Amino acid sequence: MPIADVIEKARSQGRAVLTEVESKQVLHEAGIPVARAELAATAKDAAAAADRAGYPVVLKIVSPDIAHKSDVGGVNVGPNSAAEVEAAFSEIMAAVKQRQPDARIEGVAVQKMARAGTEVIIGMSKDPQFGPVMMFGLGGIFVEVLKDVAFRIVPLEPKDARQMVREIKGFPVLEGVRGQDPADLDALEGLILKVSEFVEAHPEIEELDLNPVFAYKDGAIAVDARIVVSQ
Ligand code: ADP
Ligand code: MG
Repeated sequence: MPIADVIEKARSQGRAVLTEVESKQVLHEAGIPVARAELAATAKDAAAAADRAGYPVVLKIVSPDIAHKSDVGGVNVGPNSAAEVEAAFSEIMAAVKQRQPDARIEGVAVQKMARAGTEVIIGMSKDPQFGPVMMFGLGGIFVEVLKDVAFRIVPLEPKDARQMVREIKGFPVLEGVRGQDPADLDALEGLILKVSEFVEAHPEIEELDLNPVFAYKDGAIAVDARIVVSQ
């Protein structure tokens, strides 16, 4: 579905926040690598979607009322058969019902489980003074606790992306520590630039989060995505 149609559909439903499935549709259209997700409303639909995606898969709650899916038991990584997918679907529904009973539920997003990589985050938010600003950092505690992130004002030039990935304190992690693979810096810089171009082309996008992106020694892929549009 074209980007404008996805955004129009959300707006017509009074939503500013695109679901993970919608966000990834839009990003995929824009040529940004994502773990594509299919919406499934029932356990049987989820198993069929998993058959199509290929095992193992990841299931995640899809709800306009839930921003942090794992906080409410809404993420299940690794079901490896149709039966395991159906069980995971029920577990997610039970957990979310208990922790957030009022949440409106669309179903679950079914996607292929991506191989493990170094977790980084790429985001865009709008500054009242500077407009769209890109953000880059390492995932997890690096961003949440240490606030180890780099910012640049959109539009970015290649040298901006180059500097962003190199100026964070955690950069040695990307170079590879303790026998870990180094991350593909070209792929990360390319991804940052693509997102910068994408948000520049779509001023109706107010906020964008790829959290996390898995960085590999060859390439990178966003496994979670969230886009907020203006109303
Ligand atoms: P949220 O941020 O809303 O809690 P995420 O979609 O980021 O949910 O999922 C939580 C975690 O699950 C991610 O940080 C990642 O480690 C893992 N994960 C999510 N999607 C995938 C995937 N497709 N493949 C492998 N791991 C994934
Ligand atoms: Mg996330």
